Amino acid sequence: MPSDHDVDLVILGGGCAGLSLAARLADARTGLTVVVLEARTGYVDDRSWCFWRPEQHDLSHLVSKSWSSWTFRGADGRTSTRAVPGLRYQYIRGSDFYADALQRIATSSSVSIRTGVRVSTVEPEGNGLRVQTDSGEFTPRWVVDTRPRRLPAMLYQCFAGVEIESDSPLPFDLDEAGLMTGMRSDADGLGFTYILPLTATSAIIEWTRFSARPLPPAELAAGLAAVLDAKGLASARVIRNEGGVLPMGRPPAVSASVPGVVLAGMGGGALRAASGYAFLRIQGWAETCAAELQSGRAPVGHPAEPWDRREMDRIFLQAIRARPEKTGDYFLRLAGSVPPERLVRFLSDQATVGDYARIIASLPLLPFLAQIPRRPELFLRTEEVAG
Ligand SMILES: Cc1cc2nc3c(=O)[nH]c(=O)nc-3n(C[C@H](O)[C@H](O)[C@H](O)COP(=O)(O)OP(=O)(O)OC[C@H]3O[C@@H](n4cnc5c(N)ncnc54)[C@H](O)[C@@H]3O)c2cc1C
Repeated sequence: MPSDHDVDLVILGGGCAGLSLAARLADARTGLTVVVLEARTGYVDDRSWCFWRPEQHDLSHLVSKSWSSWTFRGADGRTSTRAVPGLRYQYIRGSDFYADALQRIATSSSVSIRTGVRVSTVEPEGNGLRVQTDSGEFTPRWVVDTRPRRLPAMLYQCFAGVEIESDSPLPFDLDEAGLMTGMRSDADGLGFTYILPLTATSAIIEWTRFSARPLPPAELAAGLAAVLDAKGLASARVIRNEGGVLPMGRPPAVSASVPGVVLAGMGGGALRAASGYAFLRIQGWAETCAAELQSGRAPVGHPAEPWDRREMDRIFLQAIRARPEKTGDYFLRLAGSVPPERLVRFLSDQATVGDYARIIASLPLLPFLAQIPRRPELFLRTEEVAG
């Protein structure tokens, strides 16, 4: 290591992406010196990560609940409950993920994490970089920056949720995840309830809106309160809250402006535009990036979105922006007439040409044909942008 680097790699942000990479580097015993700089002072159970996978996989030990079927339901009662043999919709608690990663990092003598450290700037310095923080500076060779970035997006998935516990059994099927229930759309966009039944008496319930602008937390909280009230759950005990604003459909070519710095995580393009899923994409990136570093090469960012996926997502999001009141109908058509294994492959970045054809055939032709021309103004006119 050249003497003007005090560490090989600094990872900015120890959330999903930062910890995923650091834990893999700790396991690999590369000998590279790595420091994760994280602003929060401690980790709490702040989010639920869900995804489709076969029952057994490399993260199975972290899955606390899974469901064999999933449901889409309109406010008008139209319902599609779907399942794919061998595939389950799976849930990892944020707190379990964080604890596992921190424990792996703790076993390494060359990978460490510093919490309660806020990074301010990253600049070129000699043949490396200088990272300024509110508690000193570092001069690494490389930086992986996973801090959230304020960028425009085509659509915002805004949600507020709770994990609740009740004294009496809850009115949910324990083997069915409610992906999009009570869907209703108007000129402002789609609203729906996401329901993850955990036990007979506990569940996660989230009120979600697709919107052209980030919605204020108070508005989302009011929507959630209305949902809980309508389900007779207003008096259930709240174990924890969870919420966020996911920017869907960002401008392409997200890259860092400082040589030696790689962007990753949501701020580096991890979020799938059409779904708001990022967890498995982050795991895939962390695997690749750790392998590059282990081989003595520089860290890498997320792979560019393949053309077909990028264009499908763009046209879909533009169609939703153009006719927000139709969004619920589009999702119910997808859920009702696309075979579930095809829809899951599409949402999990594994779509085949045949899957794309079935998805296109399930949607009304004219409104989607009208969205083939690009409409970059949908990004640029967004004034208020979520981090
Ligand atoms: C509530 C919620 C639920 C989600 N559920 C799913 C899901 O079910 N499935 C799915 O695929 N995706 C889901 N996502 C999307 C995505 O997987 C997560 O947002 C994921 O956490 C993104 O990882 P990240 O590392 O990019 O960001 P984060 O996990 O948010 O990590 C960024 C880190 O950077 C730190 N930081 C910020 N600024 C600084 C600074 N200046 N200095 C130092 N540190 C800083 C933050 O404290 C944070 O820890 C969800 C997102 C949210 C918000």
